[in-house]
Amino acid sequence: MIIEIRERANKNLVRRLLMENDGVEVSYDGKQWAVISSSVRQVPKYFLPHAGRAIVCQTDVQLAGKSFYNGCREISFGPVRLGGSTGHTAVIAGPCAVESEQQIRQVAGVLREQGVKIFRAGCFKPRTSPYSFQGLGARGLELLARIREEFGLAIITEVRDATHVAAVIEHADIVQIGAKAMYDHGILRACGACQKPVLIKRGFGTTLQEFIQAAEFVLSGGNSNVVLCERGIRTFETKTRFTLDLCGVAYLKEHTNLPVVVDPSHAMGYAYGVPDLARAAVAMGIDGLLVEIHPDPANAKSDAAQQLNLPAWGVLLPSLRAVARSVGRQIV
Ligand code: PEP
Ligand code: MN
Repeated sequence: MIIEIRERANKNLVRRLLMENDGVEVSYDGKQWAVISSSVRQVPKYFLPHAGRAIVCQTDVQLAGKSFYNGCREISFGPVRLGGSTGHTAVIAGPCAVESEQQIRQVAGVLREQGVKIFRAGCFKPRTSPYSFQGLGARGLELLARIREEFGLAIITEVRDATHVAAVIEHADIVQIGAKAMYDHGILRACGACQKPVLIKRGFGTTLQEFIQAAEFVLSGGNSNVVLCERGIRTFETKTRFTLDLCGVAYLKEHTNLPVVVDPSHAMGYAYGVPDLARAAVAMGIDGLLVEIHPDPANAKSDAAQQLNLPAWGVLLPSLRAVARSVGRQIV
């Protein structure tokens, strides 16, 4: 249940509500204080004079649910407006990882020319093997800051663990919480305590309920700028890297108020399938699309098989614009 707290509510009674119930969070989203709990099912009598709107949610989907806000949240940063009723499908593109200044400048130059506004690249890579390239770390963040400055692109980059979450929050326009990091409550809480937009990727073994609950950690911390990203889940199929759960995307659009981004690159794992999946996802009217592109995919230090080369990306983007138009949306 979400109980909005009136401006002059008695603090002692708010405290009493906290003491008497388990799992109660007090949240402030910059405009409104609220008490959120799954154990409280009705407003206690003593609290009625201090309560505004009271919303009973059927599950632990509370702030992310349609019963709290029956629409899609709009998130804006720099030149970008995403979600809401903008009709925008925001393209996020860039290499898997920052490898060198020359590499990211080359990609950023292409994106600027195409009118793409959001550049992605990881500096702290959550690799499956400790012997693989782990990313350039803080040096990579500095290089990304230069890209923002010089090319006017918004930057999304990922946080791998709680040791560098503050640095990523400081440098990024959107903080990406990866598929493996989305269970890290240190990261989720730190992102909840800031106002930076946060893109949470669904873990490959994560149910939709668990995925939304990860978002609830950020939302209940007071950060209302949360975006969900479907990037493929593990199924019995091994011919592709993961399985892109477009059913899940439909579910999230129907049952949550959060913008939804689709990442076909990590789902497919191979460049050949990415354009078709990207067009299929755009046809669903998604709020954003994330694609990995690289000047020389064969020699990429991570995710080499799935990154599109720049000519292939140059062919894909206009076709995405056409698909978006056909469903009444616009690629931005
Ligand atoms: C990435 O975006 O490069 C990445 C590592 O993604 P995921 O967390 O979805 O595997
Ligand atoms: Mn990657």
